[in-house]
Amino acid sequence: MIDQLYRKTVLTVAGQKAVETIVRSRGWSVAQRFVAGESIQTALDAVRELEKDGILSNLDLLGEFIDSPEKCTAFADNVLRLLDAAHEQGFTPYVSVKLSSVGQGQTVNGEDLGLTNARRIVGRARQYGGFVCLDMEDHARVDQTLAQFRTLHGEFGGQHVGTVLQSYLYRSEADRAALDDLNPNLRIVKGAYLEPETVAMPVKADVDASYRKLVYAHMKAGAYVNVATHDESIIRDVQHFVLAHGIAKDAFEFQMLYGIRRDLQKNLAAQGYRVRAYIPYGRDWYAYFSRRIAERPANVMFVLRGMLRG
Ligand SMILES: Cc1cc2nc3c(=O)[nH]c(=O)nc-3n(C[C@H](O)[C@H](O)[C@H](O)COP(=O)(O)OP(=O)(O)OC[C@H]3O[C@@H](n4cnc5c(N)ncnc54)[C@H](O)[C@@H]3O)c2cc1C
Repeated sequence: MIDQLYRKTVLTVAGQKAVETIVRSRGWSVAQRFVAGESIQTALDAVRELEKDGILSNLDLLGEFIDSPEKCTAFADNVLRLLDAAHEQGFTPYVSVKLSSVGQGQTVNGEDLGLTNARRIVGRARQYGGFVCLDMEDHARVDQTLAQFRTLHGEFGGQHVGTVLQSYLYRSEADRAALDDLNPNLRIVKGAYLEPETVAMPVKADVDASYRKLVYAHMKAGAYVNVATHDESIIRDVQHFVLAHGIAKDAFEFQMLYGIRRDLQKNLAAQGYRVRAYIPYGRDWYAYFSRRIAERPANVMFVLRGMLRG
């Protein structure tokens, strides 16, 4: 309950235009802990840096709820540029995309623009042997995102596209089971959006229990699981679960966010687990940054101290 209240307060305050203006003008030095720069090159430099510690990468060009079809298509073009640059610099590209940023919900030429643009992105990634994960956003988008994932999976194959389920949503257990026929690559997260209690569990212990359930069910189904959390107790339990069930270390991976629990990321990689860092970059970092602050009270002090230092 307190977690929910804290998150709600921070996200509400962060949503105020005046707060955004101040943080945008003074907060970049602080945001850099969570965001790998504003350009493709800074993001690829971060990939190279993480490689030294045996950590894989998942690149995310920031931008969400972009409004006009032209801007959405321009955004998708930028993701294509990222894929090209990664390939040119010798990386097999692995990217995440928010369908709202490429036009989901806008119909152009009789088709949802999000699907049209995602098709271009997944197609390009496949050309380079890469992978695209469709991020999950607020609950109103889940049906359409899962339907579009199913379409893209059919067109490009499960080696090149995956998606995400959020354990705070009551519906996710049923959503996972309904995808079993695809044997899909799924990232399991707790969920980062401000959601009503009618759709999302308000109590953290329930979200955590639901998280374990989803991961174990997907592993038992024999599908690839991206265990995306910094929660050490869950990570420990997953390590025990895979040992007990004879699940190979290449049948799943741990994923964490850039700049969060680097020690844990390095430690797991050193133990021979696959670890992938989610690397956001780009000029539109404010909404992403606000969600990271909303996840942890200590982060508010970190931001305030950083901004006061200027
Ligand atoms: C790779 C990846 C991809 C994601 N993709 C999505 C997505 O598509 N859709 C979506 O809704 N959400 C996504 N998320 C966010 C996720 O839903 C959670 O909000 C976030 O991961 C925090 O939850 P947690 O699992 O780490 O557990 P928590 O219980 O929140 O945190 C466990 C511990 O992790 C550390 N920690 C967690 N967050 C922070 C932070 N911000 N700063 C510092 N320490 C922290 C703290 O030590 C904390 O005690 C993603 C997360 C990851 C790691």
